[in-house]
Amino acid sequence: MQLTFLGTSSMVPTKERNQIAVFLSYGSEGILFDCGEGTQRQFKIAGISLTKVTKILVSHWHGDHVLGLPGLMQTLSSIDYNGTLEIYGPEGTKKRIEKMFEAFVFDKRLNFKVMEVKNGTFYENNDFELESYPLEHGIEIVGYSFIEKDKRKVDMKKIKKFGIPEGPLIGKLQQGKSIEHNNKKINADDVTYIEKAKKIAFITDTVLCDNCYKLANDADMLICEATYSSKLTDKSEDYGHMTAKHAAQIANKANVKQLVLIHFSARYKNTQELEEDARDVFDNVICAKDFMKIEL
Ligand SMILES: [Zn+2]
Ligand SMILES: [Zn+2]
Repeated sequence: MQLTFLGTSSMVPTKERNQIAVFLSYGSEGILFDCGEGTQRQFKIAGISLTKVTKILVSHWHGDHVLGLPGLMQTLSSIDYNGTLEIYGPEGTKKRIEKMFEAFVFDKRLNFKVMEVKNGTFYENNDFELESYPLEHGIEIVGYSFIEKDKRKVDMKKIKKFGIPEGPLIGKLQQGKSIEHNNKKINADDVTYIEKAKKIAFITDTVLCDNCYKLANDADMLICEATYSSKLTDKSEDYGHMTAKHAAQIANKANVKQLVLIHFSARYKNTQELEEDARDVFDNVICAKDFMKIEL
C-alpha cells in the first residue's frame, strides 16, 4: 500500500503547498481523502492516473477540502472511467453534491454514488474496512480510518519441504484449514503465517476530542492536522483546529506508530517549527510535503 500526499495546506494554498488531499493506493482500490482545489493537477504531477480513484472520503464541506471535487468529476466524465465512483461524506453530503451539479454545467457521463457516514464501519470487503467518527469543528464533519484485515500467507519454503503440490491443497491451507498429504495431517499453522494488518487514521479540522483517540487507536500511521504550533493554541481553539502538539498528544495516547502532520497554515513558510512542536510529545513524527510518498 502506498500513500501519496497530494496537498498539505489548510485554507490558502502556497507556492509549495496545495490544498489538502491524500491518496491511498491499495491493490485495485484508490482511496482519496479530501479533494482540495487543484487536486486533479496534483495527480498529474505525481504521475497517478485519475482513473485509479475508486472512493473519495470527504471529511467536511469547507472549501479547502472539497473545491477540487467538481473539476475532478468533470474530468472523470470526459475520460474512460469504468466502474462507479463512490463518494462518502458526513450528513448533508448528498444535498451538497446535488447543489454542486446545479452550479456547474457539463455532461455527467460518470457513474457515481454518494453515501453519508456517521459512527462506525461504513464499508467492508475481504481485505479492509473503513470507519468514520464525528469530530468537532462547528460543521458536520467526520474523521476516517482504514483498517486492513490480517492475512494468512503461505510459506513457500515450508510448502516445498512438505512436498505439497500447487493447487487446491495450498488454497485450503491459505483458508486456515488443515489438509491430508502423503497420509500425514498438515495444519495450516505448520506452513502458513499471519501477516499483521495495517491501520491508517485520517483526522483533520477538529479540536481535540474523544473520537480523535478512537480513530487513531493503535494506528500504524496517523495523518493528522497541525494547522498551528502550540504558540497559537488560543487561535487554534477559536477556529476549531488543532496544534502540532495536540496531534502529538493523540499519537502518544492512542499508541500510534508514526505521525504525519498535514493541513498547515500558510503563515508557516517551512514546517520545522510545527515538527519540533510535535516532537516535544511524540518522537516518530514528520511533516508531510506535497508529492511525498510513503510505502506501508
Ligand atoms: Zn481545512
Ligand atoms: Zn474546516
